[in-house]
Amino acid sequence: MSKTIDLRSDTVTQPTQGMRAAMISAPLGDDVYGDDPSVRSLEETAAGLTGHEAAVFAPSGTQTNLLALLSHCQRGEEYLVAQEAHTYKFEGGGAAVLGSIQPQPIHQEPNGTLDLAKVATYIKPDDAHYAMTRLLALENTTNGKVLPLEYLSASREFVDQHGLQLHLDGARVANAAVASGVALKEITSHFDSVSVCLSKGLGAPVGSVLCGSRDLIARARRWRKMLGGGMRQAGVIAAAGEYALKNHIDRLAEDHMRAEVLAEGLRNLGVEVLSQATNMVFIESPKRSFVDDMATYGIVLSAGYGTLRLVTHLDVDDTDVERILSAASAVLKA
Ligand SMILES: *Cc1c(COP(=O)(O)O)cnc(C)c1O
Repeated sequence: MSKTIDLRSDTVTQPTQGMRAAMISAPLGDDVYGDDPSVRSLEETAAGLTGHEAAVFAPSGTQTNLLALLSHCQRGEEYLVAQEAHTYKFEGGGAAVLGSIQPQPIHQEPNGTLDLAKVATYIKPDDAHYAMTRLLALENTTNGKVLPLEYLSASREFVDQHGLQLHLDGARVANAAVASGVALKEITSHFDSVSVCLSKGLGAPVGSVLCGSRDLIARARRWRKMLGGGMRQAGVIAAAGEYALKNHIDRLAEDHMRAEVLAEGLRNLGVEVLSQATNMVFIESPKRSFVDDMATYGIVLSAGYGTLRLVTHLDVDDTDVERILSAASAVLKA
């Protein structure tokens, strides 16, 4: 049978030929000594694209988010974050475990924003009873949804008014930029720090960058070493990340278009599509055996009944979308 189509996440992609070539020819050095030219080059490129002074390369987005939290907040301080956010819910409680930093989770609105009036009510007064509120952390995209550009400037104004810092979990911020038709920095420059995943829609095999001021990134570098994230000839993977930043941003529009076609096609088959935004489609599972049945056609979906998430990426082309829809049609008729 033809190739397997994996819709579980945009993390599943294989490096492209161009990316592999960049990895093979990358000049290398020991990055813990600051000697790896390919890591430095990636960090400069990332800082430039996001409109920040500096950047640091780390093995994962979980680590770059943690580096940001540890660099912004001290023991006994807190960050305001969505109840549904990756930085709160899906990172093992790292900020609390390793930084003694308290999260203050707040439910997000259906469009993925945190209502700033509501956020204001969670900021603690300067009083010995309370943790000190230091940081607001947002996520863009969140479940594929793009935060409105006006919301970003409003959030900047909000944190300035309240003397807070502003972090962005931008695991998929490139998707947000492409969907908004703006350069990356138009989104990221509102923030004091931004984590960008190279291994999601951008298609690199591994790695994330944290961007921010020189001071913040210097602190983050200390934490990275302590966490075991100091990697030696890391240029071999950094080169893939830089290749992704230079070649794979604009093409995200294709992933978004295919997600739209996929959502429309599923709707036409009578499937309940809960939402489609950027490269993500959320559906109500149309039958109990849907995931298993689709697997017999070589189409891999996240396990589970109830809500299913289908993610388009570099390794899903137009023919694949047709194959998914005809498989779904057959499965639903069976
Ligand atoms: C994937 C992801 C991260 C980071 O995950 P890693 O697997 O550790 O790279 C952070 N935030 C969001 C929203 C993500 O989707």
